[in-house]
Amino acid sequence: MRKTLLSLIVLQTLIATVFAEENKPASTEVEDLAPPSNTPVSYFWSKEVSSAEKSVISTKKSTINASNINGYLMTPHTNPVNVMSHVNTTPIFWGASWYNPRYYSDKIFGLMHFYQNFYGSTYASAINEYLPAELSHQSSSPIIDTSIASANPSNVLAKICSVVNSTINSKSDYYPVYTDIKRGTANYCAYHSAGICNGVPVQFAFFFDLNDDFGCDPSSPYAPAIRTMKSQTSGAVAGIPSMHQQSQGLAALANVTAHELFEAVTDPGYFPSNGSPPYWGGWFDSFYDEVADKCSWTFGPSNTGLSPGTVLIGGYYWKLQGVWSNEAQTTGTGGYPTQNGNLVGCVTGS
Ligand SMILES: [Zn+2]
Repeated sequence: MRKTLLSLIVLQTLIATVFAEENKPASTEVEDLAPPSNTPVSYFWSKEVSSAEKSVISTKKSTINASNINGYLMTPHTNPVNVMSHVNTTPIFWGASWYNPRYYSDKIFGLMHFYQNFYGSTYASAINEYLPAELSHQSSSPIIDTSIASANPSNVLAKICSVVNSTINSKSDYYPVYTDIKRGTANYCAYHSAGICNGVPVQFAFFFDLNDDFGCDPSSPYAPAIRTMKSQTSGAVAGIPSMHQQSQGLAALANVTAHELFEAVTDPGYFPSNGSPPYWGGWFDSFYDEVADKCSWTFGPSNTGLSPGTVLIGGYYWKLQGVWSNEAQTTGTGGYPTQNGNLVGCVTGS
């Protein structure tokens, strides 16, 4: 939700530009992000806040009304707008727990299936209005790295650079990094960010371990109830075909995976060719909300009688948040309300 932009320039020179939401002081949350001084990286990030934090922020926005709608529409911030029209996704599973079948359960298979089928779905087509051409996509094999994981963006970027060093492709690369780190007191579930590996810009995302984490859980009807004996077991829900079922941890990761993917595609970090510092140059509104921020923790009505938020990806049901559509908001058709209920631009592509 809140977008914090931090540009880190090499040679121990830190230049931080903070975009704070209206009525909020400049963020201090970036204080602990200084990377080791001998790590020449450049990164910045955009967080997805937890559901509890989202409620607080939405309350502050409750004065939205139809007369000041323009600030709430997505606008492009480069010309032509900088978006990803081709994406090569390489998931990275980072942390010692990814060794353990009891931990990874259905997550690796489920997330790979999700990425491989996401772009052919009607759900993914919900962002077509922001793209100059239909998105093309490929998924590469996952990388499993069982060293100790870190949530620090510079460490995440350094890990990406080290494991993809020889295969790094182009600025269409996207590296979602799934860790076994518990969220603790962090107020976000995941973030997307961008940086430089060997001179090549890469987009990446970070995900906490969301097993049994109430603040980042979509309450999917296709997963067992959170914090129960079988919460991390796929197929434990009575009455639903097992192919449509996930563990709670996978269901939670899928929801924020969709969020970060939509935003990495529509608002990737932009690295000017003249060497100027990177900035967010894609689609976001005047509050620095990106396309998924405005509809996070909201789930659209199903037009097929299924539970709210149900989306079909590659033949499997998931419960996934909606994404913002300028078209739905301005035409008043096809959308459902945002969390505070004053806008109707959330869609799920159906
Ligand atoms: Zn976001």
